[in-house]
Amino acid sequence: MNSIFNISYTNETINAFYDTCMNKCNTDPYPEYTKRLISRLKKCHGNKYDYSLVQYPTHNEKIILICKYHGNFKISLSNAYGVTCPSCRKYRNIEKLIKKYDRME
Ligand SMILES: [Zn+2]
Repeated sequence: MNSIFNISYTNETINAFYDTCMNKCNTDPYPEYTKRLISRLKKCHGNKYDYSLVQYPTHNEKIILICKYHGNFKISLSNAYGVTCPSCRKYRNIEKLIKKYDRME
């Protein structure tokens, strides 16, 4: 070896390092917070939404809730407890309008 900087890594070392890095990047950095967040959301919304994509947000990230009828939607944590799926809300408003017009006839 002619230099102290000339360090040779085996492919296994590089792969192991890469795996560790990928695992870290793909896993939830705050599993405990996420668990608590999901249990709080369940208390609010019950089984209305699927919480499998919820991850405790960092900075200004939004959390993802899954409506059983309309699929994923993103919402900021501060609005997550009072939220209704945007598509469900739209349908509910249309239903209200239809009822209103029915009464007018
Ligand atoms: Zn919906």
